[in-house]
Amino acid sequence: MPKVKNKIIKKVQEKKAKVAGVPELINEPIKSNKKTPQLVRGFKDILPSEQKYFRFIGNRLESLAQDYGFEKIDPPILEETSLFSRAVGKETDIVSKEMFSFETPGGERVSLRPEATASVVRAYINHGMLNLPQPVKLYYTGPMFRYERPQSGRYRQFSQFGFEILGDKHPVLDAQLIILANNFFQEIGLKTSVQINSIGCAVCRKEYKTQLVNYYKTQKANLCVDCKERLYKNPLRLLDCKEEKCSIIKEEAPQIVDWLCDECKNHFVKVLEFLDEVQLPYNLNPSLVRGLDYYTNTVFEIWPEGEEKKSQSALCGGGRYDNLIELLGGRPTPALGVSVGIERTILKLKELNIEIPDREKRDIFVAQLGEAARKKCLPLYESLRKEGIRVAENFSKDGLKAQLEIAGKLGVRYSLILGQKELSEGTILLRDMEAGVQETLNFNKVIKEVKKRLENQ
Ligand SMILES: [Zn+2]
Ligand SMILES: [Zn+2]
Repeated sequence: MPKVKNKIIKKVQEKKAKVAGVPELINEPIKSNKKTPQLVRGFKDILPSEQKYFRFIGNRLESLAQDYGFEKIDPPILEETSLFSRAVGKETDIVSKEMFSFETPGGERVSLRPEATASVVRAYINHGMLNLPQPVKLYYTGPMFRYERPQSGRYRQFSQFGFEILGDKHPVLDAQLIILANNFFQEIGLKTSVQINSIGCAVCRKEYKTQLVNYYKTQKANLCVDCKERLYKNPLRLLDCKEEKCSIIKEEAPQIVDWLCDECKNHFVKVLEFLDEVQLPYNLNPSLVRGLDYYTNTVFEIWPEGEEKKSQSALCGGGRYDNLIELLGGRPTPALGVSVGIERTILKLKELNIEIPDREKRDIFVAQLGEAARKKCLPLYESLRKEGIRVAENFSKDGLKAQLEIAGKLGVRYSLILGQKELSEGTILLRDMEAGVQETLNFNKVIKEVKKRLENQ
């Protein structure tokens, strides 16, 4: 009984407060925070105006995947931190300073993925894909995260898509992956330059590293600060340095192709021969080493044509990672992959003013005048849609002028207009937007009539 009473009292109080205009007296005071939350530094919204680029690239990706027999995989964006420290390498910039890592409430150390190859390999092992017919060909697309210093055009969340071929060591696959990646850029209208190198296997690379370190030691005094450190931590990355004084030293450095073992040399020669067969031009680039630890043998990048001097402008990169599956606890299995930077590709498309198709065109705009007409147009719209006609509308607008303006912007062929007069007569107007003429149709036959006209175009 007292419960009910309390309820009633509360209601009365609320009513009083409402009258007095002071609801705060009863409820928790509503804190007004006028400041709108902002984007986190290094992140951005991909607005509708940008979406056509993503759609365009996504469509090309899907069609390439089908042409070359790849199946899609969607690993999660969150993984155990150890996956990346083991796969990508502890000493790489990516793992040592660019990962978004944190502890979950359950105490797991996790990271937002900085790249997706490690996840694909983990999934390949986890789901026993080693037992499927090999090679297993997978592709992915989605956001990646790196805590880099935000600079123009680079964000801490960015998009990549990639192709991975697991379970086969044949060099024809290396060549075909390069062909596929190059086809992607050609088909979206970008001219490219393929850069290729081999970084050998664990055996011959060890020998080469010794030679490289010996050479660089003689030049130590002239190296940049970073390279002095690379000399001991990650000597292959010495070849990657963008500092001018280091580039000069690089010119005379020993080249890994001269140190490849017979097996690695054979593999590389065959890859190049296959590329020659399809007459795909490439540039043998001795300083191409890629930033990640897991690569073996073939490595490659595709650069925009004419930007060969600025190697940081790579549109995509990839190579073999024959040891990675074993490194992550699987049976020794050769594999290779490529990943494409989507934002960088878009930037290039914009720079070159390459025209991107807009959304699919609409055929018919449905315009209405007055509430009664609106009530008839809503189901008409549904019927036209179900008949496979590409329709457009703006039902919340009242004025005909405003509606026809939208129709004009959409570039529709015809507009259907339902006003008071047509409503009472059981008709509807069909306006030819190009010719500017209109005719009266029987409302009940409108779908048939519209279809007939669209077919006769
Ligand atoms: Zn080797
Ligand atoms: Zn340097």
